[in-house]
Amino acid sequence: MNSYEVRLVRVQSELAIDGVDGMILAGTDQMRYLTGWQECGHERFVGLLIPAVGDPAFLVPAMNVAQARETPAGMESVIGWDDATGWREAARTIVGAWGSAARILVDDEMRSGHLLALQEMFPETRFRAASGLMRRLREIKDAAELEAMRRAAQMIDEVFEAVAIQLYTGATELEVAEMVVGEIRVRGSRPSFSPLICFGPNSALPHHHTGDRRLAPGDVVIIDIGCVADGYASDITRTVGYCEPSDPDARALYDLVFRAHHAARDLARPEVTPEAVDAAARNLIAAAGYGERFLHRTGHGIGLSVHEPPDIVKGGTAPLKPGTCFSIEPGVYLPGRFGVRIENIVTVTCDGVASLNAEPDPELRVLPART
Ligand code: ZN
Ligand code: ZN
Repeated sequence: MNSYEVRLVRVQSELAIDGVDGMILAGTDQMRYLTGWQECGHERFVGLLIPAVGDPAFLVPAMNVAQARETPAGMESVIGWDDATGWREAARTIVGAWGSAARILVDDEMRSGHLLALQEMFPETRFRAASGLMRRLREIKDAAELEAMRRAAQMIDEVFEAVAIQLYTGATELEVAEMVVGEIRVRGSRPSFSPLICFGPNSALPHHHTGDRRLAPGDVVIIDIGCVADGYASDITRTVGYCEPSDPDARALYDLVFRAHHAARDLARPEVTPEAVDAAARNLIAAAGYGERFLHRTGHGIGLSVHEPPDIVKGGTAPLKPGTCFSIEPGVYLPGRFGVRIENIVTVTCDGVASLNAEPDPELRVLPART
């Protein structure tokens, strides 16, 4: 059995243990985890229908049947539906054969229109989120997954270094984003999300939209980028000065965020909770008087999805386990001035965490001006 066949067997045993009749996944990363294939389908229904007992089936648009047949999961049951007749009757037949179909898990990222249609078809069924069960399966990465994540991390480290030396006065954020995408593509990969490039005061906005601001000497620059290897994502953030920053607090704030990053990393290990890791970074930033300017969680899980469980945040009480991968990315943002964020991906080992990315600079890196 290949790893996808093993995962399908495992998910079916988990469904049986949980006492649910089956699970319906949309064409998301959940389906990709179990079959090696994803297909968003847009408004068309793409489903992986898994009974607790019996054969799983793909229910897909007729035009996707060939792809569904060729997934590494090697599923024999592939049912195509065409645009004229729709998907509902086929779904009713498949799911109707799942015992009482009293309890079914559904993909949290399924389009609401599709879930509403299922609820209409099966008014007696209790639909629940599949995320809890899928998290148990996906959170702990096996050796092959970790190897892919390491490669994705090393690749994005190289991309950052390649782009850093190409920055020039007058380049727009969008032009630098294009540079990032180009460096990713020449390495045979693709971005795991749109590059986030922030110059000067835009670096004070954690989710700024990369735009047409031009790079000028004295700017603080935030570069938040990722790519994929074998479907697994990387995600790093680096903060640099383009020439010596014009804001006199830039170096001190970088030092604070760097120490917060390491405080979180030093604490993280098996059996420590995500909220304790979050607090390690947050308390240090708060003690320096910037608690209100740390505007987001300390990190997020990562794997096939750039953002997946566990969140490294207050309320995260399920202890970390070896093999879990997550970001550590504290940030401080001073409106109208600049921001600093430092992000590495780490994996939990038997007695701590190991970084998948190269180490961030211990002091603010200052790039020379280029024209
Ligand atoms: Zn990031
Ligand atoms: Zn991130």
